[in-house]
Amino acid sequence: MTSTERAAEIDLDALRHNIRHLRDIAHPARVMAVVKADAYGHGAVPVARAALEAGAAWLGVAHVSEGVRLRKAGIEAPILAWLHTSGTDFVAGVEHGLDLGISGWELEHVTAAARELERPAIVHLKIDTGLGRNGCPPDKWDALLSRAAQYQEEGLIRVVGIFSHLAMADEPARPETDLQVQAFREAVAAAENAGIDVEIRHLANTPATFSRPDCHFDLVRVGLGIYGLSPFSDQGSADLGLQPVMTLSTTVSNCKEVPAGQGVSYGYAYRTQKPTTLGLIPVGYADGVPRIATGAPVLVGTRIYPVVGRIAMDQLVIDFGTTGLVDTPDSPLGKRAVLFGGTGSPPVEDWAAAAQTINYEVVTRISGRVERVYIDRTQDSVQNRAQEAGRDGDA
Ligand SMILES: *Cc1c(COP(=O)(O)O)cnc(C)c1O
Repeated sequence: MTSTERAAEIDLDALRHNIRHLRDIAHPARVMAVVKADAYGHGAVPVARAALEAGAAWLGVAHVSEGVRLRKAGIEAPILAWLHTSGTDFVAGVEHGLDLGISGWELEHVTAAARELERPAIVHLKIDTGLGRNGCPPDKWDALLSRAAQYQEEGLIRVVGIFSHLAMADEPARPETDLQVQAFREAVAAAENAGIDVEIRHLANTPATFSRPDCHFDLVRVGLGIYGLSPFSDQGSADLGLQPVMTLSTTVSNCKEVPAGQGVSYGYAYRTQKPTTLGLIPVGYADGVPRIATGAPVLVGTRIYPVVGRIAMDQLVIDFGTTGLVDTPDSPLGKRAVLFGGTGSPPVEDWAAAAQTINYEVVTRISGRVERVYIDRTQDSVQNRAQEAGRDGDA
């Protein structure tokens, strides 16, 4: 068990549940599982496989390199990559059959790759409907459409999709989303007028999938939700019918009684008020635990204890608030310590609040030093059945 004593458990059954739930919500639109950034820290390849098993139709990544990695792992489902630089290997993207998001300048690079490979590139044109990041500005949209239509004539590309990204769907009442939907509809109409047959229109992210059915169109691009987390400040995972997928846990690696006035960790940002017991938790900012999250919860046994003092590179400290534990059967030494996770664990949102950030960032930044342990009861039972079938065959 030592190898899993500092682990991010990834519950693939919870992930499958979330995908099926999101499919129901999005229906008849289909679901793209967004697995960029190593599946928000959950592990891109196992997450992509489980998502496809549960009925996701598409995978989404930011970078071509992320998509190529999925292809090299044997994943054949449609994959869209939408964020490129002048160093992006578009030839690899086209060669591996990735769909490519195009906001403007990339079109020339993608058509060059298509020419080189003598194989058309599959593209989705991206309109900036107001986010102000990637996407073609509305005043350049007609020019992009006519260039794309011409390249399509020449057989260098096939335009299959039009997409855009929302700025504030996590605040459903905001009127800006209505303006973005309107701008999106106009961009799609302009594409059709330019002779482009738009098969797949996609706009929604996780919050819009839940709160704005008018944004579903043909496909929803869901990241956070497939990991079982809520994008809304006033609703948690359970309120949305989701199950958190990542549980970050370790064991209490040291436990000691200290007097009143003991300084704890660098800078003595915390001093004990009374004689107490301190527990050492062997995860720190090198593991991606935010350094500023002093006060965040750690569950040991049935109780939650706050992180005290500064979080260090490899470790943090909790205060058990009592004495008489050390060298007794009640000693926390070696007991499981859960920072965040699913039902019964502190929610990751408590860590996000302590770190002045959002749940997206906390899970995504859990570093490669933390082992990912995959829980997969469905697959285990499939394997067991296969083994049993094999034994029967031998007998
Ligand atoms: C990351 C991303 C998504 C997924 O967003 P969530 O809020 O995690 O669902 C969807 N579309 C684009 C373009 C993205 O960059």
